[in-house]
Amino acid sequence: MLLVCYTLWYSKYTFGLSSTLRLELDLQTRISNFMQRIVIIGNGISGVTAARHLRKLGKDPITIISEETPHFFSRTALMYVYMGHMKFEHTKPYEDSFWVKNRIDLVQDRVEEIDYEKKSLTMKSGGQLSYDVLVLALGSKPNKFGWPGQDLKGVQGLYSFQDLELLEANTHKPFATGASKKVHRAVIVGGGLIGVELAEMLLTRGIEVTFLVRENRFWGNVLPLEEGEMVRRHLIQHHVDLQLETELKEILSDENGRAKAVVTSKGETIECQVVGLTAGVSPNIEFLKETALETQRGIMVNEYLETNHPDVYAIGDCVQFSTPPPGRRAIEQVWYTGRMMGEVVAQNISGKKQKYAPGFWFNSAKFFDIEYQTYGNVAANPVEGEMNFYWEEKGGMIGVRLVFAADNHKLIGINTFGIRMRHELIDRWLREGQTVEYVLQHLRNANFDPEFYRTFEAEIVKEFNSAMNANVVLAKKSWKQILNLTK
Ligand SMILES: Cc1cc2nc3c(=O)[nH]c(=O)nc-3n(C[C@H](O)[C@H](O)[C@H](O)COP(=O)(O)OP(=O)(O)OC[C@H]3O[C@@H](n4cnc5c(N)ncnc54)[C@H](O)[C@@H]3O)c2cc1C
Repeated sequence: MLLVCYTLWYSKYTFGLSSTLRLELDLQTRISNFMQRIVIIGNGISGVTAARHLRKLGKDPITIISEETPHFFSRTALMYVYMGHMKFEHTKPYEDSFWVKNRIDLVQDRVEEIDYEKKSLTMKSGGQLSYDVLVLALGSKPNKFGWPGQDLKGVQGLYSFQDLELLEANTHKPFATGASKKVHRAVIVGGGLIGVELAEMLLTRGIEVTFLVRENRFWGNVLPLEEGEMVRRHLIQHHVDLQLETELKEILSDENGRAKAVVTSKGETIECQVVGLTAGVSPNIEFLKETALETQRGIMVNEYLETNHPDVYAIGDCVQFSTPPPGRRAIEQVWYTGRMMGEVVAQNISGKKQKYAPGFWFNSAKFFDIEYQTYGNVAANPVEGEMNFYWEEKGGMIGVRLVFAADNHKLIGINTFGIRMRHELIDRWLREGQTVEYVLQHLRNANFDPEFYRTFEAEIVKEFNSAMNANVVLAKKSWKQILNLTK
């Protein structure tokens, strides 16, 4: 497809190019037959991975448009910036010169409209941009459920760079006009991974935290009972006021339109100066709703990440699969899935048709000091046809759960808390359909904790044998197996 005309009136919004003239001249020199202009909306992990791989695969002009920041940064590191462990510059995985060197044009603006017939985008700044191929990599936005007071000052989510700046302002500086009122307490609504991060962040600034969680355990739609209980104990150890089975009813305002308290479903009024809304995220696709693009909760895509419009693809947090890959959910909002989708879409756009096949689910996170990993499927509640073995160390900070099929004992999933496992090996065992007994026998190989850490394999196997009336014998560590050199 030929490059179509490119009309842009940015001088202030264009990065890597100083004026419209330079941009046009530059494009003229780059236009040649059979090139296609690829435009990516969103400079998060999915959008930039797509751009990087497209550049490796070809010479087509690539433009990334994003409203949030001029350059890609690691969203997962936002908490460390707030806590002072790193500067914002350190969250940028690539030097600013990377984009110019790789001929990837960056535009900081908001796309407000897409004309799929004319293949043209309209920006907030008024500029227009044509595309031959469009990739939507729009990410997520924090959920708001219509709570009274949810838009008051001092109420916020934690997702974007702007949220980080807002949190600084909300928690650091005197907020009421002329007043020097300090922030003593924050209320966080919704127990999940981002909520825990926010709690940790606020505590490092000496702000007390009340955590409202609707379920009867922490992250109750994901974690089984014992793991939820372990996180609850750990949060309490960190002086978090965790209130389970408690919902937000209303946020009360002071005379300046700023949050001053929340009212809970249990009728309690909790005074606070900041409210963090961390009740999950949703695909950030508001401006695409009720347009010619097929959407439900996310942008509908097939296994090739194609939408219902030719030459329009979608990737990352904003997509919803019409038929999810085996064992996976229709919407998955994690870092590595965005990266994988970016790689796959680049192949597809370059004509090397490839299905998105993420394999077994995995994820990892941290609850304050407890590292968490999960592989395969570990359901929050018992599932018919599945068996569970859960071991927990006496201190209550380390645990392992193995889920396996009741009939043939094939491994279905593993949760680990406070023990690091080797991802490649667990993934291989899942692919090979190994039994729980095999996994326990070779558990030493999976342990990825640093040298001289206490090990627990013998204890775990002993308890399994006793609970299941089994006779698993723990094998010695084998580097041959770890490196997949044995049959
Ligand atoms: C605090 C926090 C911690 C996290 N920690 C982890 C973790 O430990 N592990 C993990 O796997 N995942 C984690 N995640 C989730 C992970 O960061 C996301 O899954 C991932 O960043 C999504 O990438 P993306 O490319 O799909 O979208 P995003 O990174 O959201 O990028 C989308 C970009 O598109 C821009 N955009 C949207 N609409 C428009 C428009 N109309 N015009 C212009 N630009 C637009 C947005 O401004 C945004 O910059 C975390 C998320 C948060 C918020």
